[in-house]
Amino acid sequence: MSENKDQKFVYDFTEGNRDLKDLLGGKGANLAEMTNLGLPVPPGFTITTEACKVYLESGTAPAELRDEVSAHLAALEAKMGKKLGQSDDPLLVSVRSGAKFSMPGMMDTVLNIGLSDESVTGLAAQSGDERFAWDSYRRLIQMFGKTVLGVEGELFEDALDEAKAAKKVTVDTDLDAADLKKLVKHFKKIVAKDAGREFPQDAREQMDLAVEAVFNSWNTDRAKLYRRQERIPSDLGTAVNICSMVFGNLGPDSGTGVAFTRDPASGHAGVYGDYLQNAQGEDVVAGIRNTVPLADLEAIDKASYDQLIEIMTTLETHYKDLCDIEFTIERGQLWMLQTRVGKRTAGAAFRIATQLVDQGLISEAEALQRVTGHQLAQLMFPRFDGEAKSTLLGRGIAASPGAAVGKAVFDSYTAVKWSRSGEKVILIRRETNPDDLDGMIASEGILTSRGGKTSHAAVVARGMGKTCVCGAEELDVDTKRRRMTVGETVIEEGDVVSIDGSTGKVYLGEVPVVPSPVVEYFEGRMHAGADDADELVAAVHRIMAYADRVRRLRVRANADNAEDALRARRFGAQGIGLCRTEHMFLGERREMVERLILADTDGEREEALSALLPLQKKDFVELFEAMDGLPVTVRLLDPPLHEFLPDITELSVRVALAESRKDANENDLRLLQAVHKLHEQNPMLGLRGVRLGLVIPGLFKMQVRAIAEAAAERKNAKGDPRAEIMVPLVGTVQELEIVREEADAVIAEVEAATGTSLKLTIGTMIELPRAALTAGQIAEAAQFFSFGTNDLTQTVWGFSRDDVEASFFTAYLEKGIFGVSPFETIDRDGVGSLVRSAVQAGRATRPDLKLGVCGEHGGDPESVHFFHEVGLDYVSCSPFRIPVARLEAGRAAAEAKGSDSR
Ligand code: PEP
Ligand code: MG
Repeated sequence: MSENKDQKFVYDFTEGNRDLKDLLGGKGANLAEMTNLGLPVPPGFTITTEACKVYLESGTAPAELRDEVSAHLAALEAKMGKKLGQSDDPLLVSVRSGAKFSMPGMMDTVLNIGLSDESVTGLAAQSGDERFAWDSYRRLIQMFGKTVLGVEGELFEDALDEAKAAKKVTVDTDLDAADLKKLVKHFKKIVAKDAGREFPQDAREQMDLAVEAVFNSWNTDRAKLYRRQERIPSDLGTAVNICSMVFGNLGPDSGTGVAFTRDPASGHAGVYGDYLQNAQGEDVVAGIRNTVPLADLEAIDKASYDQLIEIMTTLETHYKDLCDIEFTIERGQLWMLQTRVGKRTAGAAFRIATQLVDQGLISEAEALQRVTGHQLAQLMFPRFDGEAKSTLLGRGIAASPGAAVGKAVFDSYTAVKWSRSGEKVILIRRETNPDDLDGMIASEGILTSRGGKTSHAAVVARGMGKTCVCGAEELDVDTKRRRMTVGETVIEEGDVVSIDGSTGKVYLGEVPVVPSPVVEYFEGRMHAGADDADELVAAVHRIMAYADRVRRLRVRANADNAEDALRARRFGAQGIGLCRTEHMFLGERREMVERLILADTDGEREEALSALLPLQKKDFVELFEAMDGLPVTVRLLDPPLHEFLPDITELSVRVALAESRKDANENDLRLLQAVHKLHEQNPMLGLRGVRLGLVIPGLFKMQVRAIAEAAAERKNAKGDPRAEIMVPLVGTVQELEIVREEADAVIAEVEAATGTSLKLTIGTMIELPRAALTAGQIAEAAQFFSFGTNDLTQTVWGFSRDDVEASFFTAYLEKGIFGVSPFETIDRDGVGSLVRSAVQAGRATRPDLKLGVCGEHGGDPESVHFFHEVGLDYVSCSPFRIPVARLEAGRAAAEAKGSDSR
């Protein structure tokens, strides 16, 4: 770093470019890019992130920085023909932070640096506007006091309010030069008292202190938290931009505004933005006066407007993307203050990407990189009918997408009670905690008035896929009185509310919900090529088609019945990667499993198994038919048996009551004994998976027979069944060998009896650390592996998968231990490294070993990239996530190809 003799710590705007974001930050790199495009950017320079790093590491700025800044400042002064803070005609500058990624929580901007008791009169004389000069000075003291010297912002605001009240006016612009002069005096007193030092009169000192404040703001608590959550490395540092001031508040021929090169909501090209006449940047953000639509600028200042439109075209063609822009007009002269590739809605991302392909600006491969699986997932939620009339109550944080409508309830008990009687409810709390879990499950959606994206409500709701709006601070939630107040409106328990988890909006009453057109398209109910096809659907169709063309990973579904299998096929599934057979033993069949568990003799057990066999077979016939021609991985029974038995407390009470009435039921007594016998402290680590198959005679054999007979039946019906038999929770190859031997024998029997050749394959899940560590041995007996990353995450971390997310994950997320739950996104370093080594070991033993994943991570965008990288053959996920997995598999392949060819 500082040892490097050639290292520069300061770059003039003319020296940088947009590729230097690491060094110059996003803002600095883009200012340099615009300068080099010949656009009107006020001259200035950028102090690099490297200088910030030295400052953060050593506590002082690099020794060379002062001289470098002096040299660049001198050049700037020469260019502008005036000196910083010069008393008769001061050069004024802004100091703005600008990290590589835009980051809330960091110091933003100090404007008007260079003004002092002396130079304020020079500015008044030069501008011919005394009021403007004093207003600029009071703004400097206020911003500098607050952000550089740490003075409580409210002190300034109160003083401003007092000044207005004294004059009986309501807006700042009604204060004249004399009033502002007095206010400056007052502001300076506030600084001296609160900061313990005078407001600095030396311009260079102002600038240096502001630069240091920007460096320090890298480490504010909010900035640190944001970085941890967004996984932004903490050692990047921020750049500092020093830019000569231009003024939008010099009269009606001045102003400031923001603009987008196309509509960030729809993607359509056009003139979008806002303009505020006679104002400085912060007035727009503060909403002090109403802005006018950008199109109105044409009537106000046609020359500037035409120039701006031309610049917007230049920027869009140059960046090949939607750009957003901040600009200022100073007495009829247009200045560009900032540009960047602009944020957009999920729908606009798809539309813009295809529009840019059509304009010949980007390739299809690039278009695929411009959209994400998260955006596609957002487009698949039902949404509120935008056309419908609605009454907005307030707005919070869009924590978990979806549109939910229900009656307001203020405690979990009522949520459960009402939902049991068929009511749809929205659980409203100030904030939720683990005690609210039942209520959250019972509700359509969750609304809280406190907490952010990682609050308990947000984390748990996202985990459940439930709509959630949190931190809606305007709502005054009174759980004791079971009501919520918003301004004048009171919402009592039972009143209907609607919440939109994609926008954070909260409405009074029922807002009608419409299905997502994108889902209608995937379901085959809307055609992308139809004349009246939705523009969004057409864009999604094109990008999906391209993703399918380039992806290497196949995508399968986790599905246990024909209905889900058929939907999965419509959504593009190329087979079933996980059929959880335990789901076939619920409902009425539960009693049959009870009989199997209670069986005392071989005869009783055989009887119970034979009763189950035809039912299992029928399930498989239906499934193989729905997935005809595609692979179907059927997993043998996995969960601990006690899950099929009644709840221990309920049963104990039933037996005790019966005994007290002296009419004890023999079956209940036996059941209770069995429940006690099978009770485990840690059922997830107990008698489940392959262990069950090894200790309950005949159980797995029955399942294998059902699969084989179903396959034979489909074959005889001229179908094309492609069953794969999967053994769960294997930890050692010996377990698999025993099961496989038995299974092979059963299959041979069925083949002989039906005269068919079934070609069934037998493989295993890899979901225990030991299985992953001995994958080379296990591959001797397995024809395929499917990574069960749910159990693998549970066992690698020692996290109980059913408990931790709702108990302490909020705290872990808040502390930034991880940015996202490892049950949601694969933990590359831990769990992922086991997957990677198991892939290598497995393939070393058996080069044609088929490899997939069927844990929840199979449908998670970030994880899909990992599975592509480690060379799996397929990912398997719930039917609804299949399109997301297809898209991300395409993106992963295109990205890898892009980096290969670089
Ligand atoms: C897994 O553990 O990842 C898996 C798919 O199995 P289950 O979730 O059924 O335990
Ligand atoms: Mg599992």
